[in-house]
Amino acid sequence: MEGSPSQLALEAVLRPLEFAARDDYAQLDRVVDLAASLEQAADRASHGAVPVELRKAYRAVRDAFRKASKPGAERAAVERALTVLAPFARPEFAREALNQPPSVLPGLGPRRAELLAKRGIRSVEDLLYRLPASYDDRRHLDTIGSLQVGRHATFVARVLGSGFAGWRGRGGRGGRLFEAVVGDETGTVQLKWFRGTEALERTVAKGALLLVTGDVKRYRFSLELQHPEVELLQAEPDEGADPEVPRRIVPRYATPDGLHPRALRRAVAKAVADFSDLVPGRLPDALVQERSLPTPAEALRALHLPDLDADAVALSDARSPGHERLILEELYLLELGLALRRDRQARAPGLALQTQGPRLTAALRGLPFRLTGAQQRVWKEIAGDLARPHPMSRLLEGDVGSGKTVLAYLAAVAVAESGHQTALMAPTELLAEQHYRTLCSLAKGSALRIALLTSSVTTGHAEAIKADLAAGEVDLVVGTQALLQEPVGFRSRGLVVVDEQHRFGVKQRAALRGRETYRPHTLVMTATPIPRTLAMTLHGDLDLSVLDELPPGRQPVQTLLLRAGEGREVVRAIREATARGEQVYVVYPLVEESERLDLRSASESAERIASAFPDLRVDLVHGRLDAEARSAAMGRFERGETQLLVSTTVVEVGVDVPNATLMVIEHAERFGLAQLHQLRGRVGRGKKPGTCLLVARGASEGSEARLAAMLETTDGFTIAEADLRIRGPGEFLGTRQHGRLPDLRIADLLRDRRWLAVARETAHDTVRRDPGLERDPALREAVTLRWGEPLALSEVG
Ligand code: ADP
Ligand code: MG
Repeated sequence: MEGSPSQLALEAVLRPLEFAARDDYAQLDRVVDLAASLEQAADRASHGAVPVELRKAYRAVRDAFRKASKPGAERAAVERALTVLAPFARPEFAREALNQPPSVLPGLGPRRAELLAKRGIRSVEDLLYRLPASYDDRRHLDTIGSLQVGRHATFVARVLGSGFAGWRGRGGRGGRLFEAVVGDETGTVQLKWFRGTEALERTVAKGALLLVTGDVKRYRFSLELQHPEVELLQAEPDEGADPEVPRRIVPRYATPDGLHPRALRRAVAKAVADFSDLVPGRLPDALVQERSLPTPAEALRALHLPDLDADAVALSDARSPGHERLILEELYLLELGLALRRDRQARAPGLALQTQGPRLTAALRGLPFRLTGAQQRVWKEIAGDLARPHPMSRLLEGDVGSGKTVLAYLAAVAVAESGHQTALMAPTELLAEQHYRTLCSLAKGSALRIALLTSSVTTGHAEAIKADLAAGEVDLVVGTQALLQEPVGFRSRGLVVVDEQHRFGVKQRAALRGRETYRPHTLVMTATPIPRTLAMTLHGDLDLSVLDELPPGRQPVQTLLLRAGEGREVVRAIREATARGEQVYVVYPLVEESERLDLRSASESAERIASAFPDLRVDLVHGRLDAEARSAAMGRFERGETQLLVSTTVVEVGVDVPNATLMVIEHAERFGLAQLHQLRGRVGRGKKPGTCLLVARGASEGSEARLAAMLETTDGFTIAEADLRIRGPGEFLGTRQHGRLPDLRIADLLRDRRWLAVARETAHDTVRRDPGLERDPALREAVTLRWGEPLALSEVG
């Protein structure tokens, strides 16, 4: 792995010095041409992009050897050089230098440094990594005649007249409006500064030729630029030949108010000139060569001070080689942290389970359906994990209805066959209850002993179940978080399954672990797929299985969007579905009428619907209903005793009633995209085609985009991408919930997905070759620094 250019240059100078000084200068005579070669090396090093002190030190070394042509003088020169360079040879030198406050840079006094600090720029390094938000391509000049409102423009023009336009408002210094009219052969335009200064007055004087850059605005019937940047090209018209116009690509930074863009640009340019060579590269050499990447130092220079022949489009789209290098650097450290964690988990001791036994064979044979190809593949992956003497940490992603439950069941049988127990956690009681019923019917063939433990189970009953668990009389306990909240003693917990993982926080996931001598196997299931590379990063400590095939015979759910006033369509759809003997969900966002929002409450609507369809049996399910009543209502719906279930979002996840074919979502505009997709997933689960009616009764932020996405596709992965686009990665990923990823300075998980995959592969490769990064302490330290706390790496799970 490469170090920083500064480190390499320093080594090139130090190595011969140290060799010469060895054994009390015994080697001095054996170094041929010492003075000449050191003079050269020091001279070369003194031109690097390193702090002035270091450049001075190199020059002192150079001069010392330049004078040391006489034989006896060499030793003195070596001694002097070693003394002069010693402070820079400390390993902390680069980091301390980069950590200095920006105020060490020219033009950034304490007041301006304060402004930058408010934007999170507290060090030279922060400044280096704050890349330009965009670039002005000043290689091509505009003409005044071609200026367009709303565009950023750069042009050369002569001042036709200028001056202060009297006192404005507050008056006093800095409160005066300064105006100028400038022109070229194609037209004239007005420039305005609300706080004109004397210096400006001197620059923008009649007759001066200026390079003007700024945003073009409309003022009444003409165009103007407010606070443009101007550069004086020629003070007087009669200075002879046309002046040379500097054609450059100029970086534009997000500049805090009170700081002139040019001042910030100068400071950054200085930071690049004095510090960029201190920035080390961490990527493996092979990757750097394969992709012909610049060093980070070169990348920073290319991005902050672009060459004349740079690709302006690539620069603006963050797709230049410089971007690629810095983004890969950042993502590599991110993925290394995850890979280290995962590697550690994978090597922790765990229970090796029986996955070929007769009970499992019977269970497989007794399934009411054939496993799909995807289910078979994933089962192999899970079984393979369970058989190894290390804890499984696996994420199972599968769209709604792809058949995840049966895999949890098979795993539980394998665990029971080896004499251990399984805990299955569901996000809601409703879902726990349903899983309990489903698993009980699956378990007939395998004699799996199953219990349900939720907060609604009566105390006495719960105590009995806990006693059975402790005694090993129960193989599989299905429950909600109540399972976590109080200590539940297992005789031997071998597997924890977390269903619908998106509902669980990371903390809760962590709480699942750690009481046993052996960490139990963990299977996390989710139906809210997130794009694959993102999933691999967010859950980088988990192995990933994907169920990418639905059971046979499924037909895509037909989705229709209705607006307020199209209620008759809803009535007709309900009539048609129930006439075919099928069942219907009607979902509302809230239980009770809120005074602020004119939402129709589910309870009110249940009554209305019941009276509208006097011949149908209608039930109501919502969060406030006690467990028994809710379970009874769900049971009636599952058995087909009721045809219409009016509910709040309690049916959102997991509920599985294949005879239900119509999903009506009221106030669809109020639901999130993932929620809408989950709700739609409640129908079309059997062989019969499903229909989903989205009833929009208004609009809310982003609602049209969400509804459009629902109409466009039924594929969970596509939906997830749309969700990510609409909400932006921050909110989508729930940074607060997932708060364990370090902040990214340059990379963007969404924009840079293809590089994320490269970074991930490389990181895994690195950890495979050097588990724990013992052979590369510098890299290990960089990862630790990036992840904030060393704990993040050492903590198992
Ligand atoms: P999800 O992945 O959404 O949790 P479930 O496990 O609830 O899906 O399964 C959805 C439905 O598909 C259930 O009714 C289940 O019995 C059925 N199912 C699962 N696997 C198959 C299969 N291989 N063939 C036919 N039906 C299946
Ligand atoms: Mg499920």
